[in-house]
Amino acid sequence: MKLLSSGFYGNSPIYLQNLLLSFHEYANSRKRYGMGYYRFLQQLSIMDEGDRLAEQEFQDREVQAIIRHAVQHSPFYRELYKNKASDIQSADGLTQLPIIEETLFAERIEEIHTETQRKKEAFSSGSAPTGFPPLQLTNLDVQRQTAAIDYFKKQNGVINLEMKRATFYSGDFVPHAQTEGAFWRDIYYLNQRIYSAHHCMEPFLESVIRNLNEFRPDFIDGLPSAILALSRFINDQCIILTFQTAAVFVETEILSDSERLEIESAFGCIVRRWSMKSERSPFLFECAAGNLHFNMRTGVLEFGEKGEVLLTRFHTHGTPLIRLKIKDRLLPVHCPCPCGSAHPVVRKPTEPESEYLQSKSRGKVTSLYLATVREKFRQLAPAMQFVQNSLDEIIIWIDGEGTLLLETEQQIRQEMISIFGADMRFTVSRRHVETADSGRYPGLVINNLQKHICQSDCGMN
Ligand SMILES: [Zn+2]
Repeated sequence: MKLLSSGFYGNSPIYLQNLLLSFHEYANSRKRYGMGYYRFLQQLSIMDEGDRLAEQEFQDREVQAIIRHAVQHSPFYRELYKNKASDIQSADGLTQLPIIEETLFAERIEEIHTETQRKKEAFSSGSAPTGFPPLQLTNLDVQRQTAAIDYFKKQNGVINLEMKRATFYSGDFVPHAQTEGAFWRDIYYLNQRIYSAHHCMEPFLESVIRNLNEFRPDFIDGLPSAILALSRFINDQCIILTFQTAAVFVETEILSDSERLEIESAFGCIVRRWSMKSERSPFLFECAAGNLHFNMRTGVLEFGEKGEVLLTRFHTHGTPLIRLKIKDRLLPVHCPCPCGSAHPVVRKPTEPESEYLQSKSRGKVTSLYLATVREKFRQLAPAMQFVQNSLDEIIIWIDGEGTLLLETEQQIRQEMISIFGADMRFTVSRRHVETADSGRYPGLVINNLQKHICQSDCGMN
């Protein structure tokens, strides 16, 4: 959503911005919520998640379908699989096919796109990981993917499109410099009000909460950092909301107990995690027992011994994704889940020790906030890393060589000041950014300060 780059939108009054936003999203929404969406939603509703055999049979049929489709329509897979494809009848049979590395996938993406899709205008949600070309999803891919997410919400008492939805989003729809007025916009026919995640901080929170009380959403979803900031403010100021939401959905794989408690106390409802970070990521959802499951109706996840995973995704008919070795690290949990679901439970390998940086005047800033900064600049700056060696300075490393645009550098610095305060130094530089293989945001935050404090405490300094 890049509305602000159009001067007309930015200079329009808010009622007109609401209309422009609704028109802007109209075409995308028609593709997303077409007949394929309603059919798949209906199909999911009559399936029994606890019936292991039926779930596996469904998964096997989908595996056969995506492989058949890939061989028929994608020159890359036709060459790669030769005559092996017809032997694959189940998810277990995938092991007979070669593994695809992400670099190869990116290099050969033009041949991976299916022939039919290359002739059409592709639907891309633009959620590819930094440095990777986006997949070209068909309308049906997007509709089925959306239905799977909405079915998860339905299991938690929420019907998207019918119920009022408040979404906290970092998109470009409210000017960042705006300090008063409405920090939200409406998409009327989706029954959705989107709130600027950028404004989920002091001194704007009071106004956001006042508006939530007027809007009275049935459910809330979006960026965890924004929802957490809002929840902390509600709890700290002892604000009683005048509406009741059915659930809060946060897009994250890991939520600490204290963070969950914060959101639950603020909104007085259940909190559910779900995650599909990009088109190359698995769809994970949290069940009523608090475990994270991989949704096997959307693909196949194959696990390595140290957390490496191979992903096959069914709803990728424009750019078939089969046995892709992705960067995400996940381990299977072999115990059955008390919720009764047959979908496999997964967990992240051990989290790194320090997942926060220290602001001189504002205390700890968790990696959730820094993930938001990375998210915001992902188009301008590829992989980012935040390193703190002293209380006075944070170094922001941007992956790559050469100099960065001065304007980008200033924007990043300004963003850091708004989070950490103006009493610290922020140095933006370029180098190859190494990423670790584990944790919530691999390699995003390196807190050497914590190490120094620990060493001096132990008398080692
Ligand atoms: Zn479960």
